[in-house]
Amino acid sequence: MPRRALVAGAGGFIGHAMVRYLKEKEYWVRGVDIKAPEFGATAADEFQLLDLRRRDNCLVATHGVEEVYQLAADMGGIGFITTNHAEIATNNVLINTHMLEAAWLNGVDTLMYSSSACVYPQYLQESADVTPLKEEDCYPADAEEGYGWEKLYSEKLAQYYNDDGRVQTRVARFHNVFGPYGTYEGGREKAPAAICRKIALCKAEDEIEVWGDGEQTRSFMYIDDCLEGIYRIAKSDHSRPLNLGNDYLTTINGLVEIVAKIAGKTIARRHDLSAPQGVRGRNSDNTKLRELFGGWEPAISLEEGLKPTYEWIEQELSKAGRIATVAKAI
Ligand code: NAD
Repeated sequence: MPRRALVAGAGGFIGHAMVRYLKEKEYWVRGVDIKAPEFGATAADEFQLLDLRRRDNCLVATHGVEEVYQLAADMGGIGFITTNHAEIATNNVLINTHMLEAAWLNGVDTLMYSSSACVYPQYLQESADVTPLKEEDCYPADAEEGYGWEKLYSEKLAQYYNDDGRVQTRVARFHNVFGPYGTYEGGREKAPAAICRKIALCKAEDEIEVWGDGEQTRSFMYIDDCLEGIYRIAKSDHSRPLNLGNDYLTTINGLVEIVAKIAGKTIARRHDLSAPQGVRGRNSDNTKLRELFGGWEPAISLEEGLKPTYEWIEQELSKAGRIATVAKAI
């Protein structure tokens, strides 16, 4: 009998890819989301359109599965998460509370919760040359308003369900995930996708807008590393939050340079200093992850990951007739 898994958020970037990953591992997979995947059909055996803020829907979604990958969330890039605190915190606390409760009531073995590096205190992220963040650094708490505080609370709730013997929970704190088949415009996209889109829409020599002075730093994890990490953490016996990120730090200006090189364009930057830019610097300390998995950690480089990401976004824009047809198919 194949293992049975629910991927919540299977219409989204990571969830859609997670369904494919589990199918390759010969799982029976149910995907659930409030929307169908935007870019390509799901690989799930069953796909249900359900609003997971509702407890009754969470009970339907978790019925008859052994593993839950909880990737459903109301989220987006820095512009979206800094201007929608009430909506994000309310929707996500409802989703996570009802998913944990339903997983317990339906006798699920393991629920894997997707937390975020936004739980880390802002006072540790004020310099671009930031010290990588260790799991225990998140207290005393000063998380990102709205989105980060909700993640921190839901991490705790997952811990209580685990420690009270209701359902085994595993928690990964993702650090900026990117790759093809993710949102690349509309306000919910993240920096790598936004930069790829802007550069794809440019002429050979052109200018793009960059939020802030571009010297803010981040680390970025390619989707394939993220999927493997999620699965490893779900299967581990570690019930406390773990960083899941690449620990190579780059500036946003550096990101622009890499994408411009991939695109073969000469790109100048126009900095919008009034736009939101989030914390000044953020990086992942992977010591615990490496200890747990015999040295494994996300290691796909930015250059390696940005190439298929850029080519996919360029191709989407070309299909939509917004740029001249691209020469090379991916
Ligand atoms: P995404 O927005 O692409 O996917 C989230 C999915 O959840 C969407 O398809 C959305 O429709 C769905 N959803 C929202 N509200 C819902 C509801 N009420 N009922 C059912 N489905 C609902 O985001 P993603 O990048 O795939 O993120 C997946 C998880 O990883 C989220 O928990 C997110 O907070 C976390 N995370 C992502 C990143 C990143 O860089 N992508 C970083 C840190 C944490």
